[in-house]
Amino acid sequence: MRYKLPKLRRVVLASPRGFCAGVVRAIEIVETLLQLLPPPIYVRKEIVHNRFVVERLKQRGVIFVNELDEVPEGATVIFSAHGVSPAVREMAKRKKLKVIDATCPLVTKVHIEAVKFAQEGYSIVLIGHAGHEEVEGTMGEAPHCTYLVQNLDDVERLQIPNPDKVAYLTQTTLSVDDTAEIVAALKRKFPKIVGPRSDDICYATQNRQNAVKALAKQVDVILVIGSKNSSNSQRLREVAISQGCPAYLIDGAEQIEPEWLMEAESVGVTSGASAPEILVQQVVQRLQELGAIEVVEFKLTDEKVQFAPPPEIKELVEQSNLVKELNSIEHLRTGQTCNETVG
Ligand code: SF4
Repeated sequence: MRYKLPKLRRVVLASPRGFCAGVVRAIEIVETLLQLLPPPIYVRKEIVHNRFVVERLKQRGVIFVNELDEVPEGATVIFSAHGVSPAVREMAKRKKLKVIDATCPLVTKVHIEAVKFAQEGYSIVLIGHAGHEEVEGTMGEAPHCTYLVQNLDDVERLQIPNPDKVAYLTQTTLSVDDTAEIVAALKRKFPKIVGPRSDDICYATQNRQNAVKALAKQVDVILVIGSKNSSNSQRLREVAISQGCPAYLIDGAEQIEPEWLMEAESVGVTSGASAPEILVQQVVQRLQELGAIEVVEFKLTDEKVQFAPPPEIKELVEQSNLVKELNSIEHLRTGQTCNETVG
C-alpha cells in the first residue's frame, strides 16, 4: 500500500510559472543547431540554469564548457541566456569561433543601458548577486565605473568618486520588493541618481513573484521547482517565505520530503523561469500519490511574450532549406501559449 499524507487534499498551481520567453528562445537555439549542424555544438556555461534541461541536452551531444579556452579554434559556440562580457566576445573572435548568441533580449537591454551610462560619464551601481553570470556579463561592459551592490549594507558602505553623477541598473531576476528597498536607499544616498527608463527586473520574474505572493495566502506550503543556481527560482522561494508560507526549492518530484507536508492540507506549486513543465506534472503526480485529490490552477495574469530567434539562426535555417517548426520544445513545455512577438 502506498504511503499517504494524513491531511493533504489540494494542489494549487501558480500561473504564470515555468519557462519565460528568454529561456524558450535559448533552448530553441540549441535544439535548432543540433538539427542543422554536425556535432559538436559547444555552449558556454549552462544554457539556462536548470539541471534537467542541461542534462537532456548533454545526452543529445551538446558540450557545456565553463570558458572558451575549452573550445577548439573555429568551432561553433552558443552563449547562454545570461549574456557575456565584451571580453568573452573578444576571445571568441581571437579563436575564430562561430558564435550564436542566446543572450535574452532583456539582458541585452541592460548591457546597452550600461554602455550608454558609461559613455555619458556616469558611475554605475549594479544591483545584483556577485558571481552570477548575468552580473559578470553586465559589469564587463563598463568594469572601470561599475560598482556591485547586493544589499542595503553594501549601499551604506558604497563610496563613489562623483556622487552627483550616478546611475543604477539591476540584474533581471531579483526580488522586486528587495530591489525597491535598495533603490530607495540609493536615492537617499545619491539624490541625483538616475535609473533605466523602465524596470530592469524582467516581466517573467515579476509575474512569477506576484503569482507566488498571492498563492502564499491560499496554501499551507509551497514547492518551487527550479535548480539551486537559478536566481529567479531562489527568489520565488524567498518571496513565499516572506509572506509567511513555508517554501522549498526542489529540482524535481524525487526531492519532495513528505515531512514538509505532514500538516499541509493544500500545497502550492510554482516553477522558475528555466524549469520545464514536465517537472511540474511529475510533482503533481507525486502529490497525488501522497493523497492530493484536487488539482486547481490559480492564474494571476496572462503571459504572451515571445522573442524572435537571432538572425544567425534564421540564416542557418534558410541556408539549410530546412522547413521546420522552431517551436521544437513542446516535449519540455506544455500549456503556455505565446501570441505576441516582442523583440
Ligand atoms: Fe530573459 Fe527574464 Fe527569462 Fe531571464 S528570466 S531569460 S531576463 S525573460
